Amino acid sequence: MIERMPATPEAPAPHPGTIYPPPGAGYAPGSYPPPGTGYTPPGWGQQGAGAPGRAPGPPAKRRGGFVGGLLTAMAFVAKLGYFGKFGLTAITMVVAVGAYALIFGWAFAVGLVLIIFVHEMGHFLTSRAMGVPMSAPVFIPFLGAFTTAGRGLTSDRRREAIIAIAGPVSGFLATLAVYVWALAQAPLAQGVAFAFSLSYFGFFITLFNLIPMLPLDGGRVTSAVSKWFNLAGVVIVAALLVSEWFGATVVNPMLILILILGGYSVWGRFQAARLGREAPPLPVRTRVLIGAGYIALLALSGLLMSLSAGWLSAHGLVNLA
Ligand SMILES: [Zn+2]
Repeated sequence: MIERMPATPEAPAPHPGTIYPPPGAGYAPGSYPPPGTGYTPPGWGQQGAGAPGRAPGPPAKRRGGFVGGLLTAMAFVAKLGYFGKFGLTAITMVVAVGAYALIFGWAFAVGLVLIIFVHEMGHFLTSRAMGVPMSAPVFIPFLGAFTTAGRGLTSDRRREAIIAIAGPVSGFLATLAVYVWALAQAPLAQGVAFAFSLSYFGFFITLFNLIPMLPLDGGRVTSAVSKWFNLAGVVIVAALLVSEWFGATVVNPMLILILILGGYSVWGRFQAARLGREAPPLPVRTRVLIGAGYIALLALSGLLMSLSAGWLSAHGLVNLA
């Protein structure tokens, strides 16, 4: 879902999350959890000495020796911590499925949560691969999910942009698989309506997270090109709120929350720039590549979301218009 950046370089840099259904907030280095809550996301700073899978123990360790036993115990606890992190992911996923099921039904809820999970794992695995410690994803019903990254996240704009876009790219690919499967079926075959509906939402989630405003993924990606994209993002979110306000629809409280989180994060980024604390700017060529990748993903998600809706309507399955 969504992610955000710390207002100051000293703050832990949270990392994006995935947000869904509509506006939620996911990743926020400084926004998530809200500052001052004293909440430390699970997994933070736990990589290190006790990294999982590395069973300590000198080759010559004595059998039954005190040190050997201690090391074995430490390895065991490290493993518990490792699985415990994903244990929290699993528990919160089940809770999220239950919550979404109240609205969308069980099958759709499972599909939705799995797409969000793939999105989050895109951030998680890319982050680990790039040497930035990151916690396992934690789901918050109706808000999406988020992960929390170590301090290194915002020190390198290119790396931050890659970790940020890895989520939407992963979620997009998972959704694309669902969409392609639906296309390959006979129009009214069982599961086709479900698959097109799920792909519609999946592409929507990707698109929403690409809004160029911190702490959303799109904000992190476009900030690598120019921090001014964030202003466009704030305007987009504000416009969505205004259209809901004047439209016949109910104003989504998540949209208000994300605008507040976004405003806070964007202010922090500009403040860091003013104080000369932001990461060094990237070469123009790198910025052009990042911008091109962002626009391509944005365009593809938008196009496929609209095509998914078109297939649903064309077959009289659902009218999303
Ligand atoms: Zn994300």
